[in-house]
Amino acid sequence: MPIDPMQPYDDDNIFARILRGEIPARRVYEDDHALAFHDINPLAPSHILVIPKGRYVSWDDFSARASDSEIAGFVRAVGKVARDAGLVAAGYRALANVGGHAGQEVPHLHVHVFGGRPLGPMLA
Ligand code: C5P
Repeated sequence: MPIDPMQPYDDDNIFARILRGEIPARRVYEDDHALAFHDINPLAPSHILVIPKGRYVSWDDFSARASDSEIAGFVRAVGKVARDAGLVAAGYRALANVGGHAGQEVPHLHVHVFGGRPLGPMLA
């Protein structure tokens, strides 16, 4: 069920637990601001999730409350993950679902990085 992007942060959400190492994930990148791991249910040959280390429910929450250094570090991490995965030459898509209409399921901001095949129209 989609989450409410205005809800308080839940420290027991599944990505918080991955950040704390309580649940395994196929990690591909980590720095002071972000962790990236393969999506458990990939929708493209390359489907990586990038999450901030801070307690942010959604892109809305993050863009409103995070510090400039957290935002800069996170955005740079998304770009690095795509470059390191070799996705730049052929192209890729980075997106964040926010709330009900977008179908956000996990209440910790995550940017999906999709690539490895033509991805089709944006809202298909
Ligand atoms: O944007 P949305 O919230 O719908 O995406 C959640 C994503 O988290 C899904 O693509 C799902 O496969 C992924 N997921 C995961 N590992 C988990 C739980 C969910 O990669 N343990």
